[in-house]
Amino acid sequence: GKAGKRGGCVRFTGAFASSMRRRDGVARALRMADLQRELSVVFQPVVDASRNSIIAFEALARWTSPEIGAVLPTEFIAAAENAGLTNLLTDVLLTKALAAAATWPPEVQLFFNLSACDVATPDFAQRLSEIITASGIAPNRIAFEVTETAIIRDFPEAKKTLDALKEMGVAIALDDFGTGFSSLSYVHRLPIDKLKLDRSFIQEMETSRTCRDIVRSVIGMCRTLGIACVAEGVETREQMLLLGHLGCRTMQGYYFSNPVPQEEARLLATRDAAR
Ligand code: C2E
Ligand code: CA
Ligand code: CA
Ligand code: CA
Repeated sequence: GKAGKRGGCVRFTGAFASSMRRRDGVARALRMADLQRELSVVFQPVVDASRNSIIAFEALARWTSPEIGAVLPTEFIAAAENAGLTNLLTDVLLTKALAAAATWPPEVQLFFNLSACDVATPDFAQRLSEIITASGIAPNRIAFEVTETAIIRDFPEAKKTLDALKEMGVAIALDDFGTGFSSLSYVHRLPIDKLKLDRSFIQEMETSRTCRDIVRSVIGMCRTLGIACVAEGVETREQMLLLGHLGCRTMQGYYFSNPVPQEEARLLATRDAAR
């Protein structure tokens, strides 16, 4: 932020003031939004790079407000958390994502992001269970992604939620691994099936020896623990090859595909299954 002295009084100008205004505008538009109409979901393939086949899609939320236009997910998820609206958002998004998953071949999984507030809401697992049951999708086709930040915020409640989800037969993926206060301790205290290696490691592993060593050891640790390792943010063929060399097969990123609309995801999934 910049405090400028103009005409004898101090005013906030520039980035700080405009980001405050923006945040208020997003929160207001979100409270008034018709979530059912305005929210949509796009799907990014998660691939087995050794066979070049789609094993899952990650559902990613999109919101276009009639008042303020398209809003980035990081922005509206944060606003929803402040406004206590995440459970409602998750409800709408999961219902839409499961409807899409129903059109894919049954071996293709759905990865779905839970927000930190969802994980900390008592009995929210029960609500998720009802949505899944209503969809008719087998729970073993679903993996819920949670971040370390969400887990640290309220560990006992997070553990309860994750244990309840696990009980339902869904998988749990630890998202953005390596960006929080990592914390291999969570991996054995929680029912974690997959670990998503944050894209910051993937981006730096070619130039940083240390980074490459970290990636190699995380992949090795996952193998030892029987946890699937998913590399996020793979953008180049070189990154794909290096990860394969380091022993990671499951990958996601622009190199393979951007997130795509529901209909295109269905085409990708069925074309893939036909090969
Ligand atoms: P995330 O869960 O880590 O999702 C991955 C983000 O990286 C997505 O951004 C995706 O479009 C982007 N991405 C995928 N491949 C690449 C790549 O190769 N390079 C780069 N630079 N980026 C790539 P997006 O869709 O903007 O979502 C941002 C974040 O918003 C997500 O990060 C997640 O934390 C949150 N989010 C998105 N959808 C939902 C949702 O339905 N619920 C909740 N709670 N959070 C969501
Ligand atoms: Ca994610
Ligand atoms: Ca991530
Ligand atoms: Ca993230």
